Amino acid sequence: DVYKRQMLIDHDKLARFTARIFTSAGATAPVAKEVADHLVMANLKGHDSHGVGMIPSYVANISNGHLRTDAHAEVIRDQGAVLMIDGGTGFGQVVGREAVDIALQRVKETGVVSMGVRNCHHLGRIGAYGEQCGRAGYVSVHFVNVVGHEPQVSPFGGRDRRMTTNPFCCVVPRVDDDPLVLDMATSAIALGKVRVAHMKSEPVPEGALVDHEGLPTSNPAVMYEEPFGALGPFGNHKGYGLAVMCELLGGGLAGEWTAQPEHQRPGTIINHMLMLVLDPAAFGGLAGFQREVTEMVRYLHSTTPAKGFDRVRVPGEPEQESLTLRLAEGIPIDDRSWRGILKAAGKAGLIEKDIEALIA
Ligand code: NAD
Repeated sequence: DVYKRQMLIDHDKLARFTARIFTSAGATAPVAKEVADHLVMANLKGHDSHGVGMIPSYVANISNGHLRTDAHAEVIRDQGAVLMIDGGTGFGQVVGREAVDIALQRVKETGVVSMGVRNCHHLGRIGAYGEQCGRAGYVSVHFVNVVGHEPQVSPFGGRDRRMTTNPFCCVVPRVDDDPLVLDMATSAIALGKVRVAHMKSEPVPEGALVDHEGLPTSNPAVMYEEPFGALGPFGNHKGYGLAVMCELLGGGLAGEWTAQPEHQRPGTIINHMLMLVLDPAAFGGLAGFQREVTEMVRYLHSTTPAKGFDRVRVPGEPEQESLTLRLAEGIPIDDRSWRGILKAAGKAGLIEKDIEALIA
């Protein structure tokens, strides 16, 4: 019975199944494949919170009209090094990649690009866009807000939910290696990780959540059952401060709206993103920069590990390690998430016989 299986699934099979769900829901084959590949890559990199577990909400948002499967990146303002892109509530994975394509073309002429990417349905793993820049040899910085639904994160010192997980990302290219990728929610943990813990009936790490009185709790249910608590920011006032800047720059400057209550919250996921792309050659030159990057990483790696740690890593390394492991061993998916995905596949129009064949 496919509804009871504990999953460890091959990434190619999972990507094909995911793409079929989205074509059944109305997306074209190339769009469905791009979204599926992005989600499965998030799982491969260890971010199950931003992987195929998002399928049920994407399918729901397609059917209720909040996610337009045929929307693409549209340039709505072009001032040389400053560009504005509207995503038309299309798949963030497609619109975001297209926006980066445009930025990478422009940065060759201008040395720096500042781009607003607004009205995207969920952009997924923000690191994907940073990696796209990094692999092409550019530095990138991303400030993101998340709107269209009720807020989940309390400001430092507060107990009410006022903000979201506001991801921040910064990527540094390396000539001979994978880019360095800092890609993080500014909440203590990503909301998706609370969802995954809730699905598995596991506690979340201490300090990530507060209950309805603002007291620390590790019970993920406070995010889903009354009386509601909230996610806290990472790093107390500093993480909160960075989240405020992501909200204002991503949502206010680049985007169309912030998490204020007068703006629409129909239960969808909209990301607005401010993205900066920098050509190292336009600064002190690539060679000197890369020398510093290589030697600094070497210096960091040579740190004696603290008790309880195997070694010191740089940002992006845990994801590379997860990628290697999961490419070889498969992607683990908990039963509850898998049931949700199968149900969404059915809602998208796939019949059980086809589902069985796709995941056999
Ligand atoms: P995380 O806490 O797992 O990792 C954050 C960063 O820390 C990563 O760059 C990682 O490489 C680095 N890191 C982790 N362990 C490390 C170590 N031991 N040494 C050195 N560096 C280390 O990530 P997260 O905050 O849970 O975010 C998960 C994903 O959620 C991200 O891809 C983010 O873009 C995504 N997200 C998206 C949205 C959205 O609305 N689209 C919202 C929130 C988060």
